[in-house]
Amino acid sequence: MINETHDPDQESWVESANDPDTDFPLQNLPFGVFDRANGAVQQRVGVAIGDQVLDLVEASAQGLLGPHEPALFSGSLEPIMAQRPTVWRSIRRLVSTALRRDTDAGRRAIELRTRVLLPASELTMRVPARRDYTDFYASVFHATNVGSMFRPDQPLLPNYKWVPIGYHGRASSIVVSGTPVHRPRGQISATPAGPPTFGVCRRLDYEVELGAWIGGYNPLGTPESIATARDRLFGLTLLNDWSARDLQTWEYQPLGPFLAKNFATSVSPWVVTREALAPFRCAPYQRPAGDPSPLPYLTDAVDQESGAFDIVVEAWLRTAAMRAQGVPPICVSSARARDLYWTFTQLVAHHASGGCNLGAGDLLGSGTVSGPARENRGCLLELTWRGTEPLVLPNGEQRTFLDDGDEVILRGRATREGFRTIGFGECTGIVLPST
Ligand code: MN
Repeated sequence: MINETHDPDQESWVESANDPDTDFPLQNLPFGVFDRANGAVQQRVGVAIGDQVLDLVEASAQGLLGPHEPALFSGSLEPIMAQRPTVWRSIRRLVSTALRRDTDAGRRAIELRTRVLLPASELTMRVPARRDYTDFYASVFHATNVGSMFRPDQPLLPNYKWVPIGYHGRASSIVVSGTPVHRPRGQISATPAGPPTFGVCRRLDYEVELGAWIGGYNPLGTPESIATARDRLFGLTLLNDWSARDLQTWEYQPLGPFLAKNFATSVSPWVVTREALAPFRCAPYQRPAGDPSPLPYLTDAVDQESGAFDIVVEAWLRTAAMRAQGVPPICVSSARARDLYWTFTQLVAHHASGGCNLGAGDLLGSGTVSGPARENRGCLLELTWRGTEPLVLPNGEQRTFLDDGDEVILRGRATREGFRTIGFGECTGIVLPST
């Protein structure tokens, strides 16, 4: 799957894409959906390149992207996600060629740059697609940490190492990075037996996750095999699964999260494609001796060899006071996606194994990405150990959970010797008071 679009020596005529620190070099080419801030253009599909965006509708209309591809003109990523991986590959190759400085298409594109290229800062991004949403619990480190707070004797339930745990989330409340999130209200009980009161959430948390955008379809009643499930992965984004821990504690039994999670889920606007991530494939988490092997329907030789992604995800925090004082955001955690217990291929195969129809524009969350060390804990529940170990910020403020005005910023990057580092941009959200 490695080809000339991954060649680290290729440069773009878009100068900012050649900056070693950009998340969006020529080798990345993530897809997103944007509006022009002036209202002139609405719901266009674009590709991020440095600090600019290539308008795929305009580029296609100008003949820069080969034969007319109707999926580019729809105003959503869903019709592109609905295509076969061969079409994704061909679009990526055409976009890469048009953005290279040493090609005929690139030289023509330079002439047309004022028509086809837009500064990212002048665009408003949208949620890339919206079909359905499921969130998993794929980090054994997260599951063990959280489990040990609530069940010190048995942190991991017996099913964890056999079945990918998840819950069906809410697609309607997925919001794009930059959208403020109102602190929710709900039932809260000080004791497990109740009685609860209805009030403002006091234990608001984030969860650092990767989201997988699904491509293609499997019809209802027709499972997707583990061998073909990898082709269902269109690309990845950052995902913040905002969580009201006090609501969750009271409501989660016996059916799992509900209002503690459905008030908002933030995603980053740029979908980093599976093909862009090909150089960063790696072996999945090595299960310790004594752990069961995955059942046959979750076992595939290619997946066992290279089913994981070597992506580092980080959470950054900036309070209202830090903003007012000009104190920059602080990185509060960093973890590796390769430490997830299940691969996205396994999550797809499991999700569809009973015949559930997954389709283009479906979103699967990985679950909080945590690792073995304290600095790898991907949510405040873990990081402050249920509020007992407050986080001390550079300006002296302390946090156990999020305050109004706090901004959470997720970042992600994939790095490998011999390849260009690519990033995910940001997934941000500021907490607003309850309405
Ligand atoms: Mn989650």
